[in-house]
Amino acid sequence: MKVLVPVKRVIDYNVRPRVKADQTGVDLANVKMAMNPFCEIAVEEAVRMKEKGIVEEIILVSIGPQQAQETIRVGLAMGGDRGILVKTDDTVEPLAVAKILKAIVEAEGPGLVITGKQAIDDDANQTGQMLAALLDWPQGAFASAVEKDGDTLKVTREVDGGLQTVALQTPAVVTTDLRLNEPRFASLPNIMKAKKKPIEEKTPADYGVDTANRLSVVKVTEPPKREAGEKVEDVDALIAKLKAAGAI
Ligand code: AMP
Repeated sequence: MKVLVPVKRVIDYNVRPRVKADQTGVDLANVKMAMNPFCEIAVEEAVRMKEKGIVEEIILVSIGPQQAQETIRVGLAMGGDRGILVKTDDTVEPLAVAKILKAIVEAEGPGLVITGKQAIDDDANQTGQMLAALLDWPQGAFASAVEKDGDTLKVTREVDGGLQTVALQTPAVVTTDLRLNEPRFASLPNIMKAKKKPIEEKTPADYGVDTANRLSVVKVTEPPKREAGEKVEDVDALIAKLKAAGAI
């Protein structure tokens, strides 16, 4: 079975995002970028499946600027086999990403697509679900465990208040939650080997997908500043303060 893993280049999760002065978005100038953490988990899961002999080939796809090639290289160093860079400098919304992925699925014929549950830049949490809908494939979103049994995938999902286990017929789409696994660090020899792995370059037009945005961002603002805390003498004083603030 082939597995397709879409990996998004996003602002590094260790970086504190700065909102642009004109409130049109987050300032990306000279900011460290990295693979979206949920995509790292997706790559790790695919690599573990390959190590178990369930998967023969891992194809990584990134839709983004030329630098997204570096994101693909990171995944190749973790154990991916080859990459497809769909090059565009435009912001591509989840629906257009899902349409491009659908075209790639049709060309490559994977038995499984593993996406992150969300990209930490737009927090959309839409692409995997939209892709499953466009392909009319079963989906297991927010996976915290994945087990393959013949043509069936058992996916444990993190839902409100507990865990739900679903059985999916492959081909299927799975989206990764935080607790699915702990992604490995690529070793130096694997980073060197990854440089020789092939990355094909495409454009959205090659897949007949129009990436024109359907949403316009009205405003992006910083979260409100946290106010300084206050020490109280005892529990009674705390309760009195909470009551005065209308919190209880
Ligand atoms: P989102 O729906 O934007 O929160 O993204 C969810 C997941 O879809 C990500 O973790 C990726 O696996 C995939 N994805 C979204 N946008 C892209 C992109 N531009 N390139 C590759 N994969 C993407």
